[in-house]
Amino acid sequence: MLVVPVGLSNARPAISFQQDTDSINPDTDMPDTHGYAAKSATLPLEPFSFDRREPGAHDVVIDIAYCGVCHSDIHTVRNEWGGTMYPIVPGHEIVGRISQVGSQVKRFAVGDLAGVGCFVDSCRECDSCRDGEEQFCERHLVMTYNSFEHDGKTPTYGGYSSRIVVDENYVLTIPDNLPLEGVAPLLCAGITTYSPLRRFKVGPGQRVGVVGLGGLGHMAVKLASSMGAHVTVLSSSKSKEEDARRLGADDFVVTKDPKNLASLAASFDFIIDTVSAPHDLNMYLGLLERRAVMVLVGAPPEPTAVASFSLIMKGRVLAGSLIGGIRETQEMLDYCSRHRITSDVEVIPIQEIERAYDRTVKGDVRYRFVIDMKSLA
Ligand code: NAP
Ligand code: ZN
Ligand code: ZN
Repeated sequence: MLVVPVGLSNARPAISFQQDTDSINPDTDMPDTHGYAAKSATLPLEPFSFDRREPGAHDVVIDIAYCGVCHSDIHTVRNEWGGTMYPIVPGHEIVGRISQVGSQVKRFAVGDLAGVGCFVDSCRECDSCRDGEEQFCERHLVMTYNSFEHDGKTPTYGGYSSRIVVDENYVLTIPDNLPLEGVAPLLCAGITTYSPLRRFKVGPGQRVGVVGLGGLGHMAVKLASSMGAHVTVLSSSKSKEEDARRLGADDFVVTKDPKNLASLAASFDFIIDTVSAPHDLNMYLGLLERRAVMVLVGAPPEPTAVASFSLIMKGRVLAGSLIGGIRETQEMLDYCSRHRITSDVEVIPIQEIERAYDRTVKGDVRYRFVIDMKSLA
């Protein structure tokens, strides 16, 4: 059994939650929601219809326009981390328009753009929630999929679907000056790379390494470069060099041949590792300057060995980072709006999801698949 990463666990809630009873229209059932689900780790995703919960006074209903395809969807659907509950409707890079608002909703109106990321609720009371770091909720983080609502028994279903019901406090305001399909991946890939770049104060003149040029990696390149850093992409795919430079990288190194890394020893101020498959961390730790930080955001299912000497000789730091809280996700979206940053996407109909998964696993995505939900009709 693999260890499910913190924040991705399916733990039932330790506390009870007061469900709002002032629903928008208690007499009418929500129409069916249509989506795609996997019924097991080995079966392809297929059409799946279900009822969303009845929206309450603080809820909004979002008609989903686009949903990004994150590698975490694939790890989860294929049960690579363990703990997957079937059927599973994946998807946590959700953008769309509000089609209904509850009576107490303050921040959204029907017709507004809206976004949802990796979680749709949390306990709101623990230290992490109070600090705006809901992703580390100590009691019950309600993940967008493969999780339970606060009642501890209703499964959550994600964004490969026509609509979603979410408390407005967990809904993001989406800028209207950017192409919507390119905004969807910001809800996970964007915040997951933005958050550690901010936490470790990446800025002008710093030498930043980005390991792996996929969904997260290409966002890290765009964001770090927009923050003024000198960005080097460390990629296993020679064919991505031109793209890397177009995305904002100053240098590109093919990692397949370790000789290419020799001249880069102890040269980076910060490295972000986005790789989804097992790989040698020591090779990259050796590229860090004195006291510099390498942050892991990639989540390969298998553990990996770290040699103490990779860290102690230069006082290096190995860190981790998990998505971001609601406040920081909104900050990232506003930052991307100001800097005109979106994801480079390949828009697909949902019927092509299996091919998209296979291409993503092969590292052959340029640089995020995004499902056009019109294809569900
Ligand atoms: P992705 O689009 O598939 O990108 C991963 C990249 O890693 C690939 O494009 C490839 O880049 C590189 N790679 C893949 N297999 C490799 C191998 N065997 N050896 C070396 N490099 C390899 O995936 P993603 O959506 O960006 O997600 C990346 C990882 O982050 C996943 O494990 C995902 O679950 C995790 N994740 C974590 C968080 C968090 O909060 N920490 C959030 C979202 C996702 P090159 O071709 O350039 O080598
Ligand atoms: Zn994700
Ligand atoms: Zn909490």
